[in-house]
Amino acid sequence: MSRTSSPTRTYDVIVLGLGGMGSSAAWHLAERGVRVLGLEKFGPAHNRGSSHGGSRITRQSYFEGAAYVPLLLRAYELYERLEKETGLDIATLCGGVMAGLPDSRTVAGSLESARTWDLPHELLDAAEIRRRFPTLSPADDEVALYEARAGLLKPENTVTAQLRLAERAGADLHFEEPALRWEALGDHVRVETAQGTYTAGQLVICPGAWAPQILSGLSLPITIERQIMYWFQPAGGVEPYRPERHPIYIWEDSADVQIYGFPAIDGPDGGAKVAFFRKNGAPCTPETIDRTVHRHEIDAMAAQARRHLPTLPGTFLRAATCMYSTTDDEHFVIARHPGHPDAVTVACGFSGHGFKFVPVVGEILADLALRGATEHPISLFDPRRFAPPPV
Ligand SMILES: Cc1cc2nc3c(=O)[nH]c(=O)nc-3n(C[C@H](O)[C@H](O)[C@H](O)COP(=O)(O)OP(=O)(O)OC[C@H]3O[C@@H](n4cnc5c(N)ncnc54)[C@H](O)[C@@H]3O)c2cc1C
Repeated sequence: MSRTSSPTRTYDVIVLGLGGMGSSAAWHLAERGVRVLGLEKFGPAHNRGSSHGGSRITRQSYFEGAAYVPLLLRAYELYERLEKETGLDIATLCGGVMAGLPDSRTVAGSLESARTWDLPHELLDAAEIRRRFPTLSPADDEVALYEARAGLLKPENTVTAQLRLAERAGADLHFEEPALRWEALGDHVRVETAQGTYTAGQLVICPGAWAPQILSGLSLPITIERQIMYWFQPAGGVEPYRPERHPIYIWEDSADVQIYGFPAIDGPDGGAKVAFFRKNGAPCTPETIDRTVHRHEIDAMAAQARRHLPTLPGTFLRAATCMYSTTDDEHFVIARHPGHPDAVTVACGFSGHGFKFVPVVGEILADLALRGATEHPISLFDPRRFAPPPV
């Protein structure tokens, strides 16, 4: 790979954005022995993008599509490595309940993935759900797929672990240094910040909710959505919600409204987190997002949660906003940049379900940046799927 005479400003690869995906890319790239510069607009593991809020669901019986399963199997291995090599607490595999009517996407789609890939799972009827998990209150015709290997990931610790391993392997990580401009110039790229201009052979762009601005040339159908996470102190306390006995859950009702939630991981007074999945996300931009959570929103969350977990919305504790970057088909965008296929790689549009893939996405991005190809199955994520058909 080409190097010029200014060693302080010239790299093999620049990673733009060090959130979930970018910190992973920086880690994998640095481990492969190339000179990496990471540029991040804010501080390490910040709360202004999409990778904060204390917890994310992970699961393998994936109702969004069986094509994701091989990536999940690899992500689980890499999450284990992240924990082992940094000593940080990242994954808690407390089990997961995907509940709803038998033909709901949540149940039927999870089952299809589990059967396609022969993943360990159990099907529970309403009585069995109530018996095993007394906080859950299904209607008589609801069922659930139970997956013992599902659980939760801590996003801030994940990002911190990846940044730590990237630095340990020699990456230069610059925080509070937004990229102001990038361009691909034949066999190299140039990125400008307020501090200077950097050049490299390759650029990997992981912009999260800033994709519509930073990748405007791609005209991707991505909507940035305001999403809210809520913490409630359960009536009667957190004891029945502790991760030793309480699963993560995704619950779809007969009107297709999905909620998801977590065991109580923040101590006796920290409550348990619950949220709407995909529904109710008002379009926004990172600059205009309303960070205030309003009373009617809290009431709507409490009412929906109460239908499935009657004791959960005891007392409202707090809420926080976050952004989804949702593509029209809710599948990711991970590819060489169609306009600059020799020098630029992009990862965006994670549509509210990307975190569980974070360590494998970085591995894919390193493959694409250094070899132009990957063995991982990523054809579903090709941005050219959105191109209008030729007339
Ligand atoms: C409320 C909520 C709940 C979710 N729940 C789940 C879940 O349970 N399970 C799951 O798998 N996924 C979940 N997700 C989705 C998942 O968290 C995201 O898909 C993932 O975090 C996206 O990572 P990212 O790297 O694309 O974005 P980010 O982590 O936001 O990273 C993008 C980074 O780019 C930086 N950046 C932007 N512009 C510039 C610039 N010009 N220069 C330098 N840096 C720049 C930003 O500051 C940011 O750090 C959830 C998301 C939200 C919001």
